[in-house]
Amino acid sequence: MNEKGIVERPGQLLSRLEFYRDLGVEFLVSPMKTDSRKREAEVGTGLLKPEGFSGGPAADDREEWDRLIRRIMACQACPLFKGRTQAVPGEGHRQASLMFVGEAPGRDEDLQGRPFVGRAGQLLTKIIQAMGFSREEVYIANVIKCRPPENRTPRPDEIKACSPYLLRQIDLIKPRVIVALGKVATDFLLPSSKSMSELRGQFGDFQGIPVMPTFHPSYLVRNEGNKEIKKMVWEDMKKVLQLLKS
Ligand code: SF4
Repeated sequence: MNEKGIVERPGQLLSRLEFYRDLGVEFLVSPMKTDSRKREAEVGTGLLKPEGFSGGPAADDREEWDRLIRRIMACQACPLFKGRTQAVPGEGHRQASLMFVGEAPGRDEDLQGRPFVGRAGQLLTKIIQAMGFSREEVYIANVIKCRPPENRTPRPDEIKACSPYLLRQIDLIKPRVIVALGKVATDFLLPSSKSMSELRGQFGDFQGIPVMPTFHPSYLVRNEGNKEIKKMVWEDMKKVLQLLKS
């Protein structure tokens, strides 16, 4: 049974367990144990923010979020609006302790209006679940909100035009930790000339928020048979969990 209480077919369950084995996950938290007492314990350890936590009055935040999402959906600040089916603002818990930031929507995301729902997204979901969270308990967004043609890397002018939306999301959520998925998100949050291999696994700082750079899930998809890359990503996520528990 998955975290939504849906019974998985044996093949689906096997593929999920194989992925966890390749990651190097040593144990799994049963979703059935994610009851209210566990939530309280997690809030106590800092894994989840308490309900009602926010950087400001909740009603004001709701209005601010609504305004922000409306602006993103109608945005024409860069040429990418011309090719989109719809913008993909991001989704998840608006008071999440843990935020994931990727590069830009791909084809599936553009069609569905949701971040990380293609093959790479399915891997990210498994990683989030292996960390003991559901997608609904974290926030997932991209630096760029509209799909670049043929999934090309976003250009600097596009990042400059779109990044205020991500900055506002970070400001509203105030996560305890951000995971930067891949080079575009890492370069935006932690500018440097270093490669992902040099940067991953070490916390950087974005305006006082610890940022863990790690490989983008699409890199895992492209290197599906490479268990070492999966293990590196899981090592990075273990550091994130340690920080959240501290
Ligand atoms: S990518 Fe960002 S800046 Fe460009 S049109 Fe879409 S929402 Fe606006």
